[in-house]
Amino acid sequence: MSVRVRFAPSPTGLLHVGALRTVLFDYLFAQHNGGQNILRIEDTDRTRYNADSEKEFVDTLAWVGIEFDEGPHIGGPHGPYRQSERKEAGIYSHWIERLIELGHAYMAFDTPEELNEMREYQQINKMPTGYFGGDWRDADPSKAAAAIAEGKPYVIRQRIPRDRTVVVEDAIRGRVEFDTNTLPDPVLIKGDGMPTYHFAAMVDDHLMEITHVLRGEEWIATSPIHWLLFEMFGWDRPVFVHCPVIVGTDGKKLSKRHGATRVLDYAAQGYDKEALKNFIALIGWSPGDDREVMSQQELIAAFDLKGLQASPGRFDIEKLRWLNGHRIRQMSTEELLDTILEYVKAPYTMEYWMNFVDENPMPNKKPTDGPEVWRRLVRLKEKAETNRSYVLEAVRLEQERVQTLADFGEACEFFLVDEVFFDEKAVEKWFGQEHVGKLLRFLLERVSEAQTASVEWCESLIRQFASDHGFDKLGPVVHPTRVALTGKTVGPGLFELMNVLGPSRMKARLERALAMLK
Ligand code: GLU
Repeated sequence: MSVRVRFAPSPTGLLHVGALRTVLFDYLFAQHNGGQNILRIEDTDRTRYNADSEKEFVDTLAWVGIEFDEGPHIGGPHGPYRQSERKEAGIYSHWIERLIELGHAYMAFDTPEELNEMREYQQINKMPTGYFGGDWRDADPSKAAAAIAEGKPYVIRQRIPRDRTVVVEDAIRGRVEFDTNTLPDPVLIKGDGMPTYHFAAMVDDHLMEITHVLRGEEWIATSPIHWLLFEMFGWDRPVFVHCPVIVGTDGKKLSKRHGATRVLDYAAQGYDKEALKNFIALIGWSPGDDREVMSQQELIAAFDLKGLQASPGRFDIEKLRWLNGHRIRQMSTEELLDTILEYVKAPYTMEYWMNFVDENPMPNKKPTDGPEVWRRLVRLKEKAETNRSYVLEAVRLEQERVQTLADFGEACEFFLVDEVFFDEKAVEKWFGQEHVGKLLRFLLERVSEAQTASVEWCESLIRQFASDHGFDKLGPVVHPTRVALTGKTVGPGLFELMNVLGPSRMKARLERALAMLK
C-alpha cells in the first residue's frame, strides 16, 4: 500500500515552527516513499477558530515550498478536506451512530453544574478527575430516551473499557502502556453537534486511508483513546509516530525567547527557505551520519522513521544562522541578488520590519531599528534597478560575510549612499593620526587621475604609501583609508572594495573625509 500522510492543523492562529517540523516530516516521508501528502483543516473547535489562519497556512507552506497531493485548496478524491464541511456532509453523525450501535459510545446529559460538582468531589477526595461514567455510562436506555424527549442537551462520549492495559505502539518509542482505569470517557461529539479532535481526526484518518500519523509528542497522552477507536470500529490502524518536542538551547519548551515562533517571521528576517528546511529537519531527526548541510533532495533521499529520536529536539538559532550563511555562500551571486530582490518585494518583509521592536538587543550593540533595516533594503533594491552590475559586485563582496538576506541592506549600504555615515569611534581612532591627511591627499591625487582601479593597483597604492612613510605594517594605512571610504572599520577586503567603488566614487569620498580633518 502506498504511503499516505496528512498534515492536520487547527486553524486557530499562526503557523509555528513545531507545526512546520511536522509537515516537513510528512512531506519528506511521502516523497521518500513515493506516497501522498494530504492537507486537512481541523476546524471543529469554533470557539478557537480564526478565519485568517487557513490562508496563513497555505501562504507559509507555499513560501517554504511544501506541496500537497490533496487538500481544501486543490481538492482530491477524499474531500471535503475541512472538517466543518465533513460535518455538514453527515460523515461524523454516520460514524457516531455506528459506534453507539456497537455499544462503544453513549449519550451523557450532565449539566455544566453537575460536571463541576463531580470535579470538586473528585478533587476533595483526591480521586483522578474526569468523567469515568457518571450517571449515564450504564444508564437504562429508557432514561436516555426520556432525556432526549425532554430536549435536554447532551454530548456523546466514548465508553473506555475498564480494567485493561492498552498498549499503544509508537514508531519511535515502541510499546507505551496505559491503564484504562486512568482514562476518562472522552467526549466524541460536543453539545453543538461538532465532533472533537479525538473522533474527527481518527474517522478521517481511516476514511482518507492514512497509513502514518505523524504528530507532536503532546498527543501521546491521549493516544490510547485513538488506539481504542480503531479497535472499536474494527479498522486497521495507521502507524503512530509521535515526534519529539522542540526545546531551546536552555532545554526549555520553545518560546519567543529562543527566536521567532511564527514561520513567516523567518522568511521576513531573511532566512532562505532551503536553509530553514535543512535546519528544521534536523530537529529531532538525523540522517544517521554526521551530515549537517543537506539540500531538499538529500533530505528526501535520507528521510526515514528510524532517524527520529525520542529525546527532545534542540532549536539552536545560531545553527540556523550558520546554515543560512552557508546557503548564501553556495548560491551564485546572480541567484543571490535575485533572491534578495524577491525577499525585499515580498509583502511580509516590509510588514515585519516596519513593525519590528527589538526586545532582545544583542549585548553591546544598539537595538536593531526595524524601519531602518527596511529603508536600507529598499535602497539596495532601487539601486539594483538602475545599476544592477554595481550592486552585483557589492553583493559579491559581502556574500562571504553575511548570515541573512536582511543583513545585505546594512552590509552594502556604504556602497550605495553618496555620503557614507562615519562611525564616530572609527573617526576618533584613526583620523587624529598625523599621517592621515597626507595619506588621503596622496590617494586623492592618484584616483583623480585614474580611469579604472584594479585590485592590484589599489594594493600597490597602499603599499607604496606605507613604504614611503616607513610603516612596516599596512594597518596604519589600511584602516584610515577604509574609514574614509566606508565610514567603518570592518567590511570586505579593502583592495576589493576600492576596486568596486572605482575612481570617481573614491574621489568624492576622499574629498569629504579630507574636509572632516580640517
Ligand atoms: N489538529 C491537531 C493540531 O493542530 C492535529 C494533531 C494531529 O496531527 O493529529 O494539533
